[in-house]
Amino acid sequence: PNIQGWTAPFSARMSTKKHAKHHQKITEAVHKEGGKICMQILHSGRYGYHPFNVSASAIKSPITPFKPFKLRESGIKRTIRDFVNCAKLSKVAGYDGIEIMGSEGYLINQFITKRTNKRSDSWGGNYENRMRLPIELVKQTREAVGKEFIIIYRLSMLDLVEKGSSWEEVVQLGKEIEKAGATIINTGIGWHEARIPTIATSVPRAAFTWVTKKMKEEIKIPLVTSNRINMPETAEKVLAEGDADMISMARPFLADPEWVNKAEADKSDEINTCIGCNQACLDHVFQQKVASCLVNPRACHETELNYNLTDNKKKVAVVGAGPAGLAAATIAAQRGHNVTLFDADKEIGGQFNIAKQIPGKEEFYETLRYFKKQIELHKVNLKLNTRVSLDDLKKSDFEEIVLATGIKPRELKIEGINHQKVLSYIDVLKDKKPVGKRVAVIGAGGIGFDVSEYLTHEGEATSQNIDAWLKEWGIDKTLEARAGIENIKPEFEASPREVFMFKRSKGKFGGNLGKTTGWIHRSTLKKKKVQFIGEVSYTKIDDKGLHYTQNEEQKVLEVDNVVICAGQVPFKELYQPLLDANKSVHVIGGADFASELDAKRAINQGARLAAKI
Ligand code: FAD
Ligand code: NAP
Ligand code: SF4
Repeated sequence: PNIQGWTAPFSARMSTKKHAKHHQKITEAVHKEGGKICMQILHSGRYGYHPFNVSASAIKSPITPFKPFKLRESGIKRTIRDFVNCAKLSKVAGYDGIEIMGSEGYLINQFITKRTNKRSDSWGGNYENRMRLPIELVKQTREAVGKEFIIIYRLSMLDLVEKGSSWEEVVQLGKEIEKAGATIINTGIGWHEARIPTIATSVPRAAFTWVTKKMKEEIKIPLVTSNRINMPETAEKVLAEGDADMISMARPFLADPEWVNKAEADKSDEINTCIGCNQACLDHVFQQKVASCLVNPRACHETELNYNLTDNKKKVAVVGAGPAGLAAATIAAQRGHNVTLFDADKEIGGQFNIAKQIPGKEEFYETLRYFKKQIELHKVNLKLNTRVSLDDLKKSDFEEIVLATGIKPRELKIEGINHQKVLSYIDVLKDKKPVGKRVAVIGAGGIGFDVSEYLTHEGEATSQNIDAWLKEWGIDKTLEARAGIENIKPEFEASPREVFMFKRSKGKFGGNLGKTTGWIHRSTLKKKKVQFIGEVSYTKIDDKGLHYTQNEEQKVLEVDNVVICAGQVPFKELYQPLLDANKSVHVIGGADFASELDAKRAINQGARLAAKI
């Protein structure tokens, strides 16, 4: 609504008619397709990543470096005017309504709770005063926009931070918001500074709809529920069980813009499912990059990445059915090429078949289901159990050869590397070799973390069981605890093993993991009492265990096994000989470049190549 409310310098703002006019392109396009669209008004308060940010009190948030200015009373009144002005302008922009963002810890929350509001004027102190801002916002907006315009209020139903709102306070506010003229109330879960995951892939699907259901006992206007609802079956179950009147989703539409049409046509098996990884959406936003989607690189790149039908149909071989090869083969076939996809394995997926076994990564199964369906729909000629040799390709009449042959685990040169105690992550995750009770993990990248997560869990993953997951993170389902968490001790299964994670470099463990998810992995492993041992050099592995040097001191850790997760190197032996044989050959994914490889890059590279061959 104004500059003070920016999320970051020069982020979006609607304060003038000129700003509003820019939005007409969007609203007109949505209306042309028969949709309705509301615009969210978000004032970030102390979360604003800039030096002009403001809040109820001058208290810095734990997740931003800028201490806010305390709003004066005149400043609060001006902020309300700016919100109302923004709502009126959204009508000029052609929106059907607005959503007032009153959750996730932004400005409105900062006024509501004692955690962030230490004022002693009529906007602080008792609860009536603290909830005055949202009530005034809804009241004055309703007066300004008339009866018909939709006003959604996003109500923080569960703050998940110390000194957040109690359930009674949330209900009281919800009723006041209803009275003040809101059309719909949406559910907000957790402040951004909460140390509990609310949307990551390890959060069970629809993990928080029970909160909305509880609010339904109190409120008459329609309620929207949200968080980790990514497939029609999940949404349908939530609605059928009466947890909410409507479902809100965002990321699933980045993953598949045809989501609604496919759901309506009963083709959910064709949906490209959002796996909740945050790798290309939120993580990009925090790095000031254009948001996109790991499973759909076209998201937000629709003007430059298109899969148009080809007028030069070719015979294409794709070698390797990991994420890179799957994307390349299915998109090339969708464009009309005659594609054969080979894999040495008995199933498609490459490393995704390993990744999907990590507790909390079960959504990876959906990506494989999606690609399987695409192979069928676009008639890719799939050849499993087929290791392709140089000779096969040299003799073939393929006009284009795409090598998506992935990686090999990095081989280490430590004395005793061939000792029977030593296992690779593939031995553990794929071949299910037995692992003892005390384990050293060498390497603390994504795979080291995943292997440690796997080794410290037993039985069903909590991501598959909402109640167990809530207990693990210390969330009180009775809602008697303030903000859902105060004085609740997390309850989690003890690890069946003692795990020690090693790395040679300086810096924090998991520093290279995703910005929005790395802390979750670290927190989970800490709960399982995994010990992090950094700045070491490895000396040898023998019957005793792992010998290493730290601070110039020789140490030995007695362990039953040492699991190597020390990165990967490209596997592309076929490339140069094919080039030498004058074949038109391309290399993508891990086979091209293994360092910093992830599925985001693999799928993106596969899709971009397939869009142009
Ligand atoms: P691969 O997936 O390695 O696939 C290569 C395929 O080529 C294999 O199926 C292989 O059988 C086949 N092949 C090789 N040679 C031949 C041949 N001559 N003939 C026929 N077939 C052949 N990435 C993320 O982005 N997010 C995550 O959360 C994540 N978690 C992970 C967790 C684990 C435990 C692991 C192991 C990986 C994880 N990754 C993750 C990494 C991700 O899986 C890889 O980046 C991705 O799979 C690389 O894709 P690719 O297609 O290049 O290669
Ligand atoms: P990685 O992230 O590159 O980590 C490799 C680890 O091995 C580092 O901790 C490194 O630590 C160590 N290492 C490297 N060379 C070594 C050597 N010669 N001797 C001993 N240790 C060595 O690779 P990865 O964990 O194998 O993961 C592969 C890819 O999959 C990654 O790029 C990652 O993005 C992706 N992935 C992503 C996720 C995710 O959740 N997003 C999960 C799993 C995998 P030191 O150099 O400090 O010792
Ligand atoms: Fe979902 Fe991951 Fe795509 Fe984000 S990047 S929309 S979380 S699949």
